[in-house]
Amino acid sequence: MTKKINAVIVGGGFAGTKAALELAKSSNCSVTLVSDHADFRYYPGLYHTATGGKSAGSSMPLDKLLKGKGVEFVQATATKLDRKKKQIETAEGKTIAYDSLILALGNVTNYFGIEGLAEHAYGIKSIEEADRFKKHLHDQFIEKGCPDLNYVIVGGGPTGIELAGALPNYLRAIMKKHGLKDCPIQVKIVEALPQLLPRSPKDIAEAVAKRLQRLGVEVLLDTAVKGQTADALMVGDSPIKTETVVWTAGVSINPFFKANNFAMTERNKVVVDEYLQAEPDIYVLGDNAATEFSGLAQTALHDGIYIAKNIIRRSYGDEPEKYLPKEPIYVIPVGKNWASVQWGKLHFGGLVGWFLRLAADLVGFHDLEPWPKASKQLLVSMSHENFGDCPACNKKESAPAA
Ligand SMILES: Cc1cc2nc3c(=O)[nH]c(=O)nc-3n(C[C@H](O)[C@H](O)[C@H](O)COP(=O)(O)OP(=O)(O)OC[C@H]3O[C@@H](n4cnc5c(N)ncnc54)[C@H](O)[C@@H]3O)c2cc1C
Repeated sequence: MTKKINAVIVGGGFAGTKAALELAKSSNCSVTLVSDHADFRYYPGLYHTATGGKSAGSSMPLDKLLKGKGVEFVQATATKLDRKKKQIETAEGKTIAYDSLILALGNVTNYFGIEGLAEHAYGIKSIEEADRFKKHLHDQFIEKGCPDLNYVIVGGGPTGIELAGALPNYLRAIMKKHGLKDCPIQVKIVEALPQLLPRSPKDIAEAVAKRLQRLGVEVLLDTAVKGQTADALMVGDSPIKTETVVWTAGVSINPFFKANNFAMTERNKVVVDEYLQAEPDIYVLGDNAATEFSGLAQTALHDGIYIAKNIIRRSYGDEPEKYLPKEPIYVIPVGKNWASVQWGKLHFGGLVGWFLRLAADLVGFHDLEPWPKASKQLLVSMSHENFGDCPACNKKESAPAA
């Protein structure tokens, strides 16, 4: 029996936006996407935005992405779930009723209670954070000239590695713009465990560490962070003198789930069944779901496609299909023209990996937009040497050549 379904999706990230776009293809679903931000954040590009890429390369306005696609967009923060009335409530005082609720809220930063990090560390989990970090880099050179500076990235996961690989080049470009030569800067990456990429095979971790060292990055393993002050990072017994620490080492589940009493696994993810269902008519996707490969954009997109297909099936009275996890391909860019690749048993690093990453980004953009727009978005995302509104850089740019 055919039944029109009112699908409400909360979270305009990878899983939620994809689910909304796919659901809206069916005339049997009315689709509302609720998200707290007006833009879709392409997280894999944020390290690049933080090191000279354009903001538009990692931020796409949701109203443009959804225009003409049959999705109603509501900018609001979901706070409460009323299971009996089948509705969600938002911080803005809205109440939104659903037949099927899809929760795709993503993770939030976690400092694990380490003293000083929340106050002093930078992050790159949003455009605002990336811009704040970029501004700090420029301001430091303006205020201090050419001092002895340490830049410390905490976390040897993909985000920390991508940032560490791109930062030396960007710092050199800023110094050049500011008319400074060869300041004694040092980029360090700090990881608490004995290898970078703790969940990856050893050969990949070692190749990435070697590549970083070749780019001039100091790799500190087995090094746990104990605290941060305004001018130092406490690691072991010897503090590192620094005013620039970027925390990429910890995330935790969106607080919405605890606040609304969802069942959680020991790993702090929401328990879902073989249909990604956490409770009757409530589905959890992407980073928040306890599935084999959650924590990756590729998985979130896969979840979005899967859930849309099943809800459409249900609307026609068909049996839902079981969820099958999809093994992702891990591609991590480390500096320009080099990326490490883990594709099943195939492991390698180099220029081919870099092109694979560009292809993956293009496919990622195409998951949300038609090919011509996705190609344009890829070009924007590849832009370099964006110095923001730094007065020193802009002054130098507009000054006539000597
Ligand atoms: C810096 C960085 C780099 C990354 N690089 C890669 C990479 O190279 N490759 C890869 O595969 N993965 C990468 N990831 C991981 C990947 O981005 C995530 O796995 C993916 O974004 C998860 O998708 P999601 O839909 O579950 O959550 P998200 O994409 O985080 O989307 C969640 C959305 O929900 C919104 N939201 C949150 N709370 C509320 C609320 N209460 N009400 C309304 N809206 C809310 C958020 O603002 C956000 O828009 C990276 C992550 C980060 C942080």
